[in-house]
Order: sequence, then C-alpha cells, then structure tokens
Amino acid sequence: MAVYGIDLGTTYSSIAYVDATGRPSVVPNTEGDHATPSAVYFEAADKVIVGTAAAQTAVVEPELVVDLIKRAMGKHETLVMHGRRFTPEEISALILRRLMADVEALTGETPTDAVITVPAYFGTPERLATMQAGQIAGLNVIDVLSEPIAAALSYGALNASSERAILVYDLGGGTFDTTVLRIAEDGDIHEISTKGHPALGGVEWDERLAEYVVDRFMEEHPGVPHPFSDPTTVQDIRSRVEEAKRHLSEAEEYTLRLVHAGEVSAVTITRAKFEEITRDLLDTTIEITMAVLAEARERDVDHIDQILLVGGSSRMPAVAARLTEVLGQEPILHDPDLAVAKGAALHALEETYRRLVSLGQPAEAQSLARFCGLSPEQELYIANRSIHRVAGRGFGVLCHDAVANRYHVMPLIKSDDLLPASATRTFYSSYDSQKEIGIQIMEQVGESDDPADHRLVAAATLPLPPDSPAGTAVDVTFQVSTAGALEIEGIPLQTGALSAEEVEAARDYVANMRIA
Ligand code: ADP
Ligand code: MG
Repeated sequence: MAVYGIDLGTTYSSIAYVDATGRPSVVPNTEGDHATPSAVYFEAADKVIVGTAAAQTAVVEPELVVDLIKRAMGKHETLVMHGRRFTPEEISALILRRLMADVEALTGETPTDAVITVPAYFGTPERLATMQAGQIAGLNVIDVLSEPIAAALSYGALNASSERAILVYDLGGGTFDTTVLRIAEDGDIHEISTKGHPALGGVEWDERLAEYVVDRFMEEHPGVPHPFSDPTTVQDIRSRVEEAKRHLSEAEEYTLRLVHAGEVSAVTITRAKFEEITRDLLDTTIEITMAVLAEARERDVDHIDQILLVGGSSRMPAVAARLTEVLGQEPILHDPDLAVAKGAALHALEETYRRLVSLGQPAEAQSLARFCGLSPEQELYIANRSIHRVAGRGFGVLCHDAVANRYHVMPLIKSDDLLPASATRTFYSSYDSQKEIGIQIMEQVGESDDPADHRLVAAATLPLPPDSPAGTAVDVTFQVSTAGALEIEGIPLQTGALSAEEVEAARDYVANMRIA
C-alpha cells in the first residue's frame, strides 16, 4: 500500500506517491491536472465542489466559494455556509478529501497514511490545525513537514554525496518563504534559518495587474460604476489577470479583455510594465531572502551551493533574473509547482520505512522498499538518514514582574533550537494554601520579550500539594515535538482551535458530505 505526500497549498494543492520505479509521481485529478485549485464551492451544507469548477463558480456565486483558507489555519475564524459553521480545518479537510478521491478514481486505493506540508514559518497553532485537517479528512497524518525540506528532497537532496547548503526561495500563490538548509554528508537535513511573509504571493501580483487593468478600463469608460464594486466582476477579473500573468511568463506582452456594466476594454500589458508595477513586491521577497542569508551567516553558513526555486510564482522570469543579479548565482528552476508534493511523498516513504524498522518489522520495511523500487543501497541510505529540524519560533511563559509592575515573557525554547526540544522551569506559588498555578504559554512572533511580540498558544494549570506555603516550588518540563506539538510533562497541550472531540465530530460530519 502506498503512502502519500500532500502539498496543501494556499491556491493549489497536489498529492503524490512514490511509484514502483522509486520516483515520486503526482496523481492527476479527474480533469487531468496535476494541481487542484484550493477552492471550495458550497452547493449545500453537506455538498461541496472542490477545485477548478469551484474556482470558476466564484465568478457567479462568490459568497458560496471559499479560497485562500490556508491563511486562516490556526486562527479562531469560522465561515457560515447554508446555515452551518465551518472551521478552516474542516474546509481544508474538504480539499484533502477531493485529492483522496482523485487518487481513488485513478488507482482504486483510498489513501490513509500521508505527510502534509506547511510553510516553514508556520507556528504551532497552524501546524496543529493542518494535522487536524488531515485527521478530519480521515487520514493518518504521518508528519507535518516544512515545504522547503520537501522541495529539497525532491530536488535530489536525497542523493547528496557531499555537504552543501541550499537556499529555497518559495513564492507560491498566497505566501512567500525562504529557508536555508544544510545537507550533511550523511544525508541529514538541518533547517538553518527561515523567514517568510504570510500574505505575499501570486495573488498580490494578480491584484496589481487587476488595478492596472481596471484603471485603463476607467480611463476608457469614466461614467460606469467602478468594476471593484461588483463581486462578480471582481472574480472575473481575478481569473483573467491570473491567466494574463501566466502568459507574461512566456510572452513579452498580452492583451486581456475586461467586460463590465455593458462596456468592454481590451488592455495590452507588456512584461516590462508588469514587472514595473510589481517591482516592490519582488523587492520585499529579496529583502527577506537577504535577511535569511544574514541569519544563516550568523550560524556559520556563509556559502550557498544551490538556490532552488519553488512555487508557481517563481516561474515569473523576473524572479530568477533578480536573484542572479543580487546573489551572483543562477537559481535552479525545475518543477516548481510540484516539487513540494513530490518531496512530501519521498518523506512519507522514508518515515514509514524507518518507523517499520524501529517497530521491529524489517520484513515489512523491506517489502515497502521493494514496492517502491528502491535498491538495497538506497534502502540503507534511507534507513540511516535523519532529518534535524529546528523550532520555527520561540516559546515562553508569561510572567508578571511585581517590582517593575510589568509583564514579560520568560523564554523556554528559542527559535531555531533543535527539535524535539525541552526545557524545565521552576514556578513558585504566591500565597499560602494556593491550590494551583496557572501558566500561559506564549509563542514568539516578534523580537522582544514583550508580551505584545508574542501570542498565547496554550494555557495549563499546575496543581500544588494541599496546604502549601507561599513560595512552594514546582518544576515543569515543556517539550516541543518535531512536528511542532507542545507538551507539558508528556501531556499534549491543546494549541489548536479544536479539541480532540471537535476533530472527531468534524470527521464524522465530513465523512457524510458529498464532495466532488
Ligand atoms: P501555493 O502553494 O501557494 O498554492 P503554487 O506553488 O501552486 O502556490 O503557485 C500558485 C501560484 O503560482 C499562483 O498565484 C499562480 O498564478 C502562479 N503561477 C503558476 N504558474 C505561473 C506562471 N507560469 N507564471 C507566473 N505565475 C504562475
Ligand atoms: Mg506552495
């Protein structure tokens, strides 16, 4: 039975597995495409359409179509559709179910075990939400893997024979992130530093193009109501400018038509003009890239051997040109839209293999390796390889300084600490016969120890022995797993929006939905 890798993208999602020749292969959907738009159209509270048809329906019924749901992952936001409230986890689960159904249509097998990828800068709540989305879809989520690691795996880091450092530049549909990885001689992968922007992707390029096109339209038809005031026109413009943008990656100019309020404009845009009106967006990605390289230098990685371009938006020629200009090194662009799904499939295979071995089932591990066409040498390589990951963000505990009368965050785990990480801290009761100490675990989102630079991710109560005097000490050990889950003394903390019961209820609901 195959194990799967899923790139649950902001704008497009893909599913892959390792085929009988040992190569990762992306499963085409029933429309024949390798990427399915991450759009969900709610026909009824229990009936949805996912993918291209949903994205197209957005033109006529925008209020019934959900897209960019990945940006809401880990946030306490819900959407009401046909009277039912849906969480981001559930909506993502619907996308996953569609990918699973496409695999079933092609192979007859329903995926159960899968690795799902997330941007490297996703914090604990977002990673947990992604894990829960998988569970709601009925998957056994083997791991939640950072997209740059997945990309590096599919770009051949699997076969590293010498130590090297890699810069991954991932410009997708809704997010940008850039990561420096070091691949050790033994194949171990270290995440050295990572930075990103949660709302910078192809969609922003589309928006610039839309503004440009609409301005030209208004110049030609000054009397008509503004096209952005009509949601149907907005959706129509969105799909037209995205198509125009793709053409501009190949051609020097493109003409698109805008129809609104009975008026038509044919607007011609050159690639040069497009690059001019989006230059500051590209600048931002370059600034973030320089910052991630500077941080890597502080961690003794001062030479980058390879620059990998990932994400559909990295197909825009300006990206490679600009990186070559500022870094003096040409990036590699190969399969940027599918690299993440393929790498996730390779990771799913490796993890499953290593898990079987560690569970004392070498025969099963070997048959999996044979099924996937691995040679004995490749098998040995995988068996001995481990991926070292670092915490994307730091964690601390909210403390009150009575003398200065201010709150600050006492650090527990620093960003870029090797995972799994643990830290033990002592807490003291403040009055006699105190029954428990309440602690609030904060995830760092800014630079300082100020609570404003953090967000609350979990709360816990530490019980105290009866009749404890003020100042009683309690030692507590915090842990962060490789997948980013938080635990106190081995007990998982609820860092996501959903409890285990809510996940189960959502799974039952989704299982009974009709998903096309
Ligand atoms: P995500 O993982 O964020 O969903 P993808 O990596 O699938 O994103 O990239 C999707 C983005 O790539 C979309 O904004 C799409 O318009 C853009 N894109 C895809 N192909 C091209 C192309 N040839 N030129 C420019 N942009 C492209
Ligand atoms: Mg992506």
